[in-house]
Amino acid sequence: MSPVPDDAPALAQALLSWYYTVKRDLPWRQTHDPYAIWVSEVMLQQTQVKTVIPYYLRFLEHFPSLNKLAQAELEEVLSYWRGLGYYARARHLWEGARHVFSRLNAEIPKTYEALRQIPGIGEYTAGAIASIAFGVRVPAIDGNVRRILSRILAWPYPIESALSRREFQNRLLQWMPASQTEGFGQTSGDLNNTPGDFNQALMELGATICLPKSPCCSACPVSAWCQAQTPELYPVKRAQNKPNSIIRLTFVLIREDQIYLQKRPSKGLLADLLELPGCELPLTASTLLSLTPDDCFSLYQKTVIDRSYDREAWEFFQSSPTLHGPARHTFSHRHWNLYWLILPVRGHAFPNMIREAQNLPESSRWLSLQELDSAPIPTAFQKVIGAC
Ligand code: SF4
Repeated sequence: MSPVPDDAPALAQALLSWYYTVKRDLPWRQTHDPYAIWVSEVMLQQTQVKTVIPYYLRFLEHFPSLNKLAQAELEEVLSYWRGLGYYARARHLWEGARHVFSRLNAEIPKTYEALRQIPGIGEYTAGAIASIAFGVRVPAIDGNVRRILSRILAWPYPIESALSRREFQNRLLQWMPASQTEGFGQTSGDLNNTPGDFNQALMELGATICLPKSPCCSACPVSAWCQAQTPELYPVKRAQNKPNSIIRLTFVLIREDQIYLQKRPSKGLLADLLELPGCELPLTASTLLSLTPDDCFSLYQKTVIDRSYDREAWEFFQSSPTLHGPARHTFSHRHWNLYWLILPVRGHAFPNMIREAQNLPESSRWLSLQELDSAPIPTAFQKVIGAC
């Protein structure tokens, strides 16, 4: 196992000197506002910097403060997240903001431990907010940082293990500069190093130099300490299962220039977002074709909330309609093959104001093509709509 570098301050100094020279001018690096840093850290999870920038700017323009976000409706928040993916992040951010607003007097706490008590704030995000916004000496360990650590230490164990987490935490605390509270927030850019700068320097190293494939070791500020002979061998990961490949039968109801959508449950995959109704089936593509009209109608009744079109749907299924697809979409542990049936239905659009009078289910709605653009519809369903 790797020895602890005995000149940890020199490692930190080399890393920070490099960072102050090359760091990218990113919008969230121009602030110490904990709310803005929170938003940026949530958006940056599983999403690249260049993708995040326009979303971050647009989101903060619309929700410039925690109070604004906390008082917004979830659907409005999701619509400003549309296209970024991983919508659960937006819901957790909103829930966290509401918690701070209603329980903590709208003040984001300054310690790692208190931040961890906020719903939706995990170890990484708490570490990032505490160190960057408040100068607390605490690591922020994400996948990039784990990769760097595993290479510097030539770490031979799976990085997801408890042993690895403990070891990485301890090493970073050894290397990290002391907390600097006096004058904090004024000094970024010189060598009055802060824990927040140290954490951001590691993030920068992971994003630009110590890349998953072909790291640029010749340009690396910590190469003198790095013990990985063959960096691509690290990090060691647990054997992973392939995402499950699943057939999803989807019903696309079209009325005039509108498409029927309904809200998904508040828990689980794509929670609270709008969906084209449908269901996952334990079938293959060829056995899907053997579904009878009665099978289809039964699945339709189980999945479409609005009962207004049952009769038309039953007639439609008797007519041996064309099955379209597949459109493919991969989540982290699930791979959807979406097949769909397009049901043209008759009737008139109901404006929302007479929805209640018509006794239509609140979680279902008809949206025009223009309205689809701003609605919180996951990419998987956008692919289907785009192909209709
Ligand atoms: S020397 Fe190479 S492998 Fe080691 S930390 Fe630097 S970029 Fe990563």
